[in-house]
Amino acid sequence: MMTKANIIATDISQLSTEEIEDTMDDNLVQLNVGKDIRVIVTDNEASIIFDNTVNIYADSKGKVRLSGMVLSALKGQTVYNKVQSSGGVNTACSVPIMNQGSVTGSVYIEASADEIGTVISDIEKSMNWLTLLLCVTVGIISIMFANMLTAPVEALIRKIKSFSENDQKNKIDIKAPGEIGELVDSFNSLMDKISLLEQKRTEFVSNASHELKTPLSSIKLICDSLLESGADNPEMTGEFLNDMNNEVDRLTRIINDLLDLTKMDAASYDTNKTFITSNLKDIITGVVSSLTNIAEKSGVTLNFNSNNDVFVLMEENKIWEAIYNITDNAIKYTQEGGNVNIYLEKENKDAIVTVQDTGIGMANDEIKKIFDRFYRIDKARSRETGGTGLGLSIALSAVKMHGGHIEVQSEEGKGSTFRIFLPTA
Ligand code: ADP
Repeated sequence: MMTKANIIATDISQLSTEEIEDTMDDNLVQLNVGKDIRVIVTDNEASIIFDNTVNIYADSKGKVRLSGMVLSALKGQTVYNKVQSSGGVNTACSVPIMNQGSVTGSVYIEASADEIGTVISDIEKSMNWLTLLLCVTVGIISIMFANMLTAPVEALIRKIKSFSENDQKNKIDIKAPGEIGELVDSFNSLMDKISLLEQKRTEFVSNASHELKTPLSSIKLICDSLLESGADNPEMTGEFLNDMNNEVDRLTRIINDLLDLTKMDAASYDTNKTFITSNLKDIITGVVSSLTNIAEKSGVTLNFNSNNDVFVLMEENKIWEAIYNITDNAIKYTQEGGNVNIYLEKENKDAIVTVQDTGIGMANDEIKKIFDRFYRIDKARSRETGGTGLGLSIALSAVKMHGGHIEVQSEEGKGSTFRIFLPTA
């Protein structure tokens, strides 16, 4: 009502009284104002220029309308109120007609409550349409968003399925924002790890077969020679049997080492109940006394002086084996006249066993590989000294099983330093 009153007031603000009389009927048609809505236009002295209620129109034209609402409009105010009429309570509003800053008249509109009801139901209808439109729009946008989010996930699922079905190892090349992108990246790094494991597994099987085949081939050769030459030469037979015995010992050593590794791979630091608190100083003293002879034979000086008691929760023979293998290597790969020094310290919550030698050392790119199973820098030299290439793998597995790690520093021709870190008890 107020909007319509304002439109009328603006439309007629420039018009003369006669022009207002002429145009008002058309205006009301255009604004869809029926006869059941009363529209009165007054001049600035409240004298009625136009009244659309036909019967009253003849009577009311020219009369002065002194209702409070019209008077307020003539003071420049816009008013909206309930008014009592013969038909009951009506709603009415009146607005000023303004021309060049001064009030030149008023427009008064009055409608029955029924009429307002119709307006409200019109608004309700419009609101319903608007709600429907909003729902459809929101629905379409939601579907678009959902598609945008699920498309990479679906692609990811397809790839994962094809990986497990066809055993492909290609990475996923989907670019996706946010968490889904992170999921794709994690999946790709998982694939890298699987590929690396696969590669290591193949290498391991091939290395293990090779290592086992070598002594077996020797045994086969010795057997053939024995069969050919017969048992008539007891001296030669004795020699052959001795060689065969050595090869069998080597085979047994490799198999025992492999079994050891498998057991340690399956063991976990937290769940292992066989650990006891032991003094590392005693373990190292034991290792040193069993290697002193070997060191002396190689002309290497083996030193360990420590007054530190450092206690670690451990499976004694595993830690013994780890320190033994590393010290044994230090002696093996140190020339005559060299030194192997062992130190024991406690730093924060770690026990650190340092095995330092003045031996042949290693190139930087070799250091990463020496813990791999069967890896040996110089195969011939390692075999000569009875090495299987499993000593350091066993040492690392044993240390990891106790929640520790090993660090290596080395320089070719100068020597190597192995540092074993173990959590103290
Ligand atoms: P191996 O039975 O051959 O000693 P390991 O697993 O114990 O096998 O060691 C792997 C390789 O690491 C050795 O073959 C050797 O080349 C190298 N290595 C280990 N310790 C030393 C060391 N203290 N100095 C130089 N090279 C070493």
